[in-house]
Amino acid sequence: MSPTPPMSPKPSTVVAPRLRRITMDLGDCSACEACTSLAPDVFGWDENTERPRLLKELVPQDQAQEVISFCPQDCISFDDEECQDV
Ligand code: SF4
Repeated sequence: MSPTPPMSPKPSTVVAPRLRRITMDLGDCSACEACTSLAPDVFGWDENTERPRLLKELVPQDQAQEVISFCPQDCISFDDEECQDV
């Protein structure tokens, strides 16, 4: 009797992250650079204005919520009502 072949694992389901559009209102920005430290792929630093700038507007939902919650001056917010699937 031949040995039973090992069972192959079930294929995993990959769920694409939901993207949200974010915007910045830098009127109260304290230039703490927390956003650029937390999400350097989303926020760059403008040496001329000494304020952050958006490198991309569409951000995965979880990352967007994290940076919005982290900004001490509430400068970052969602700029959409709907989530978009990738
Ligand atoms: S986290 Fe908020 S206050 Fe700090 S630099 Fe970024 S936008 Fe400005």
